Amino acid sequence: FRPLDVESIRKDFPIFATTPPLAFLDNAASTQTPRPVVEAMDDYYDTYRSNIHRGIYRISEEATAQYERAREKVAQLVNAPRARQIIFTRNTTESINLVAYSWGSANIQEGDEIVLTVMEHHSNLVPWQLMAQRTGAVLRFMEITDEGLLDFTQLHDLLTEKTKLVAVGHVSNVLGTINPIQSIIMAAHAVGAKVVVDAAQSVPHFQVDVQQLDCDFLAFSGHKMCGPTGIGVLYGKLELLEEMPPFLGGGSMIRSVERDVSSYAELPAKFEAGTPSIAEAIGLGHAVDYITQANLAALQVHEQELLKYAHNRLQEIEGITLYGPAPHQKAGVISFNMEGIHPHDVAGVLDTHDIAIRAGHHCAQPLMKRLDVIATARASFYLYNTIDDVDRLYEGLCRTQKLMTRSQRRRAE
Ligand code: PMP
Repeated sequence: FRPLDVESIRKDFPIFATTPPLAFLDNAASTQTPRPVVEAMDDYYDTYRSNIHRGIYRISEEATAQYERAREKVAQLVNAPRARQIIFTRNTTESINLVAYSWGSANIQEGDEIVLTVMEHHSNLVPWQLMAQRTGAVLRFMEITDEGLLDFTQLHDLLTEKTKLVAVGHVSNVLGTINPIQSIIMAAHAVGAKVVVDAAQSVPHFQVDVQQLDCDFLAFSGHKMCGPTGIGVLYGKLELLEEMPPFLGGGSMIRSVERDVSSYAELPAKFEAGTPSIAEAIGLGHAVDYITQANLAALQVHEQELLKYAHNRLQEIEGITLYGPAPHQKAGVISFNMEGIHPHDVAGVLDTHDIAIRAGHHCAQPLMKRLDVIATARASFYLYNTIDDVDRLYEGLCRTQKLMTRSQRRRAE
């Protein structure tokens, strides 16, 4: 594959047209949107806006076709055997809640065990806590090593005949760690447990193949992969999705409705109650086109280069702590703290130089506790970031350090 043509990619993102350009390094939270995605959604609004799956007129047929075309593109992206195994939701959070409510209510009983890791995002933790409270199931956690890798020595003890489900993040949104989920999935299946993969930080950044992984469910969000907000995806194995009861009830998800009972539509409609995010699904389809045309393998190489460079540069700064493993075990996420400076102050000073990073607990409070910090600063990359963005981050951090130590000294005097 050809390396990314970052210069021409950047031209598709009007947000980078300012001088100096915005150094946008908060891609793990949400990425920017290229023109082709916005134009595809504009085209829907301008020329064929209508509801789907019901109109018997031309523009509604067109909207339905485009919505279903988007589903096919997403299915192809993750190599799902059939498009109907792709359920459109609002985001990763809703996808995981769908599994917790629907699959959970039919399959989890008191005393059953759910295995998670301490590095989970709250959206792959709180739904399981709620489920455990409803059913009397027990949550168990895989710990991490000091390097920020999952501690596999525990896996054998954690997985027993009581384990009904393993819910694991593919890539940590804080540490960047790429977890060896294939081994986890094989081990979970060996004890008869199902596996939910939180792929919010993996599908946007490298090729994920649900058939190769053999995962039971996989969840991700459109807004982290050049798509709009308000659209997410749940992939599931066909036999599981077919057996599962509906999550939300309402229009579009039924076959027929009596006063007291209803029968439900086939997949995927069974899980798409009400009018869905039509423009957003179409936008996501075009975002899939955009990142696959850029080439996911080239994107991964580009992010690795930025990550290695950032690791080396940031390590030059005195008093900095970088969290997580070595770059080759990570995706393009780098969390850090600077001695004596709150990460919010770091992000605040960088913002005055048009550098956007994240600071906080990153919806991973149990992980913060494990790392023994309240918060971290975090820079994260995507296909449009450049070495210059990293240089500006480095220089901004040096300036932040000078500024903060000067004002701390002044306060002490
Ligand atoms: N899981 C991970 C690993 C994430 O990074 C995020 C987003 N920060 C989520 C889940 C939740 O995604 P969303 O807010 O789109 O539901």
